Amino acid sequence: MATYVKDFSEGDKDQKDLLGGKGANLAEMTRLGLPVPPGFTITTEACREFLRTGEVPAELRVEVTMALRRLEDALGRQLGDFHEPLLVSVRSGAKFSMPGMMETVLNVGLNDASVQGLAEYSGDERFAWDSYRRLIQMFGRTVLDLDGELFSQALDDAKAARGATSDVDLTAEDLRGLVETFKDIVRRETGRDFPQHPREQLDMAIVAVLASWGTERARLYRRKERIPDDLGTAVNVCSMVFGNLGPTSGTGVAFTRDPATGKSGDYGDYLVNAQGEDVVAGIRNTATLADLEQIDPTAYAELRQAMRRLETHYRDLCDIEFTIERGKLWMLQTRVGKRTAAAAFRIATHLVDENLITMDEALSRVTGAQLSQLLFPQFAAGSDATLLTTAMAASPGAAVGRVVLDSATAVERAAQGEDVILVRRETNPDDLGGMIAAVGVLTARGGKTSHAAVVARGMGRTAVVGAEAVVIDLTSRSFTVAGRTVREGDLIAIDGSTGEVFWGDVDVVPSPVTRYLEDGLDAALAATDDEEVRDLVRSVDRILRHADATRRLRVLANADTPEDAARARRLGAQGIGLCRTEHMFLGERREHIEHVVLAEDDAAHLAALDALLPLQREDFVGLLREMDGLPTTIRLLDPPLHEFLPDLTELSVKVALAEERGEVDEGDVRLLAAVRRMHEANPMLGLRGVRLGLVVPGLFALQIRAVCEAVAIRRAEGGDPHAEIMVPLVGSVQELRLVREEALRIMSEVGAEHGIEIDLPVGVMIELPRAALTADRIAAQAQFFSFGTNDLTQTTWGFSRDDVEGAFFAQYTANGVLTVSPFETIDAKGVGRLVQIAVEEGRATRPDLVIGVCGEHGGDPESIRFFDAVGLDYVSCSPFRVPVARLEAGRAAVTGVDADTR
Ligand code: ADP
Ligand code: MG
Ligand code: MG
Repeated sequence: MATYVKDFSEGDKDQKDLLGGKGANLAEMTRLGLPVPPGFTITTEACREFLRTGEVPAELRVEVTMALRRLEDALGRQLGDFHEPLLVSVRSGAKFSMPGMMETVLNVGLNDASVQGLAEYSGDERFAWDSYRRLIQMFGRTVLDLDGELFSQALDDAKAARGATSDVDLTAEDLRGLVETFKDIVRRETGRDFPQHPREQLDMAIVAVLASWGTERARLYRRKERIPDDLGTAVNVCSMVFGNLGPTSGTGVAFTRDPATGKSGDYGDYLVNAQGEDVVAGIRNTATLADLEQIDPTAYAELRQAMRRLETHYRDLCDIEFTIERGKLWMLQTRVGKRTAAAAFRIATHLVDENLITMDEALSRVTGAQLSQLLFPQFAAGSDATLLTTAMAASPGAAVGRVVLDSATAVERAAQGEDVILVRRETNPDDLGGMIAAVGVLTARGGKTSHAAVVARGMGRTAVVGAEAVVIDLTSRSFTVAGRTVREGDLIAIDGSTGEVFWGDVDVVPSPVTRYLEDGLDAALAATDDEEVRDLVRSVDRILRHADATRRLRVLANADTPEDAARARRLGAQGIGLCRTEHMFLGERREHIEHVVLAEDDAAHLAALDALLPLQREDFVGLLREMDGLPTTIRLLDPPLHEFLPDLTELSVKVALAEERGEVDEGDVRLLAAVRRMHEANPMLGLRGVRLGLVVPGLFALQIRAVCEAVAIRRAEGGDPHAEIMVPLVGSVQELRLVREEALRIMSEVGAEHGIEIDLPVGVMIELPRAALTADRIAAQAQFFSFGTNDLTQTTWGFSRDDVEGAFFAQYTANGVLTVSPFETIDAKGVGRLVQIAVEEGRATRPDLVIGVCGEHGGDPESIRFFDAVGLDYVSCSPFRVPVARLEAGRAAVTGVDADTR
């Protein structure tokens, strides 16, 4: 028989799957002997059964009866009894906390009769009626699904009638009246009386919690947080203790460390004569824990002891809910507390210094995502800008600029040197120009996978999306928000890490952690005398150095220019895993490519290529100088040649217009013919990569020669160049063999010319399924593999990234086909499977094969863990992701993931 109910005394903190987080931790506190009001947990298994059948399992009713009787016997009171009623709370609690998704009902068991019993038993009539009105209010909202406003309005009216500002000023009589009003509301809105039978109240509340798992709101939240839909929630039934029993009672929350800054020491809020959420609802001003020490030294001392006990036990920051009933402390909840990124790093190292955790554990407790949050520029503290609204933090950073309401205006104003923030209802591919021109993007619609969010993250643009409060009016060129009108041209500031939108100017400063990464520890420490900031920087430094010492993966960078290379090196890159040479054919050099394409005979063709040689050589010399001593992987030309030629339509128009005027330019006509000839219906799958190198004579030879000569020059300068040649888009080993033979020939030629030996590794990008599937053969010709996971994802899924990502990924995420874009996090089951095959078969042929990844995934935390698990040697990512990759590679080494179980 399935077990649907467990007493608090039966579980422990490791049973979160079955008992939910709240239930598991209540059980753990009970086990530790802390004062937890007794109760029981209805397991997630019951919820899953309920979700499957739509009905409460029959055994559940029986098990609840048994558990309830045990509880009643232990306490010597009965649920809803007329004399000394036992009351309970019915509390939701899933494995992962889902704040605000499913609410708790307190004081279950109160009715018209037991409220009298409670009054007698407690000797406090006011308290009894206050508890009853709370029950009807919470039950009405949560179980009967009524509009909470109806109740809060009635409460406000009651306060107004009495001339009271606070709920504690209401008398027993007032509250008795309020109960009648609340009951009327229930009758009017549901056509039924508020249920008087205690067990019926309990059962209805339990069903409401079980059902709340499936509400649209909860579903959306889970999708956003990537929590699986089939976990289900547990339900905790907990005997009530009362913080609203007068001045010697109260309720509070406490943290064993400051979750905002990580500073050591107890933090908390306490509210006298209050129940449940009152303390965080801002209804009255709260007291601090220091105040509590004055109010009730004994209860305070007991709380301190419990907090210390919990922190020692969990070895981490604990977040606690407690209630004091007439001087007696009760613990109602604990969990390992959420914290800001800065607090995460500081707390981790503090715990190491207190000898509570090891450095390995400290490393596993911070994430790459947290580190990247510390890298974004910040709004300087102490500005007086007005907060307009808070929406979804879609792409981190801090941006200040003038409002522009369309892309064309954004481009125009940015061209005049202005910083602009593009404000749109939502964006679509036509807004790309505006998004590039803007320093930030704000949209009124859309979620974290909307076009605006995806594109902004992709280009590192700050974005806040889904600001529902923003109503744009294009005719008056303005938008309204929170009753204010903001005009195009007004200054606003958006924080993509918090989702905040401000009116007016806010200073933006580089973060201290960025400073540390760029300039080193001493410089960063010297730059501030804020001890908190210095402590943060030191914590990041310690953990990052530990990651470097621990990780198995090397971290390289994708860099095309000496400047990028230098930056990457400062940030800790151990080489270049991808230098894209197409960047070297842009700008003024396009013209040379045109000559190559238009050459009428071999001699003209070779001459055109020759003109490129010195330029390329200089590029490589610069790169190898910055990367002295470190591997520098140079990828031969990858994109189709027509990408370097004028646009077909534009050129057609130009030629047609010229013809009309009778001023035909022979060059343009020939160019147009070439562009037509080279036009491809599907360039992504067309003449590019190694195919181009084999079809256009001399092209790869030129690049290889340039690399070899650059190596010779650097050696002559006394340098230590480590260039490697990487061939893109290989599908067959024969392609690679042809390029490799040519490369070997050129190496020995250039070597002979300079009287040195040149022996550069030649490797291959694995970015086509066929390459992965024939890796054993390819490895015979390749000294290294580098997974181009972007193209490999495109070709595995048959997605053209530019076409699909903005077009329907939002929908695909909404309907659950994708949980995350496979372009952001490696699709371990599909694309990852190909990676695994290629690694295994490549190494079978060549055990010393060096294998890395140079797609964007190389900088994605979850993907990095995957690459570590499947045995890659390095990841290569954009320079600014290097610190994150170093950290995540370290975490992968200490936490370890089994690639097959993901
Ligand atoms: P949440 O998941 O939103 O934190 P909880 O289940 O913890 O919801 O309950 C909401 C509030 O009610 C909290 O302040 C909690 O401490 C309080 N509460 C819950 N159960 C009891 C109880 N048995 N006695 C007194 N207060 C309770
Ligand atoms: Mg709680
Ligand atoms: Mg590619």
